[in-house]
Amino acid sequence: MTVTWEELGWERLAAGVGRCRLPVWDCTAGLVVGEGAALLIDAGSSPAEGARLRDGARRLTGHRVTHLALTHPHFDHVFGAAAFPDAEVYGAAGVDAVIAAGREELRADAVANGLGARTARAAAEALAPPRHTVTGELTVGLGGGRRALLANVGPGHTAHDLAVLVPGAPAVVFCGDLVEESGEPQAGPDAVPSRWPAALDRLLELGGPDALYVPGHGAVVDAAFVRAQRDALAARFGVSR
Ligand SMILES: [Zn+2]
Repeated sequence: MTVTWEELGWERLAAGVGRCRLPVWDCTAGLVVGEGAALLIDAGSSPAEGARLRDGARRLTGHRVTHLALTHPHFDHVFGAAAFPDAEVYGAAGVDAVIAAGREELRADAVANGLGARTARAAAEALAPPRHTVTGELTVGLGGGRRALLANVGPGHTAHDLAVLVPGAPAVVFCGDLVEESGEPQAGPDAVPSRWPAALDRLLELGGPDALYVPGHGAVVDAAFVRAQRDALAARFGVSR
């Protein structure tokens, strides 16, 4: 039996499109429901959290998560991926190498941000690099005429930023941490500040003026918010137009 988005504590954004705001780091996981298929966007901060997302998605859709898109290689977005061994997993080109070589960094960053040491170790060990990498854009069919466009719009927040556009009325753009609403965008050592404003220009091109833009952290925003954040980042990092 399926439940409604609201009953499950998820936020419905459009027909068959919604998201869940996860505890502790307020990280977003998105869901796009197809026919016999479902795309999850980001997997949460631990295998247990990934399993909760997997079970919630099954209750919402009546079937399993068949596709998983990872917006960027930060622990709060990818450490739940081990809960989806049967899904087709996508990431921006090069993210496979970062995950393969950077488990220790991911683990250390997770612990520094408050994830339990044992959980972080287990998650880092269980994390497999995505099998599918995206250079440019890739359309994924989810059955019943439902499509999602995976777009490698970065670098910016990291060197491997993947956004997901779900066409419709309204269109929905899952931005990963290229956009944050709950605080100032986080630029860590793996950020590419000089390219970040251009990545937001690309996001705005993808979604257009009327889309809902879903940040990696915080409330859903509109194109004007993304444009303002783009200009603020350009000023902060001294990037001219
Ligand atoms: Zn991040």
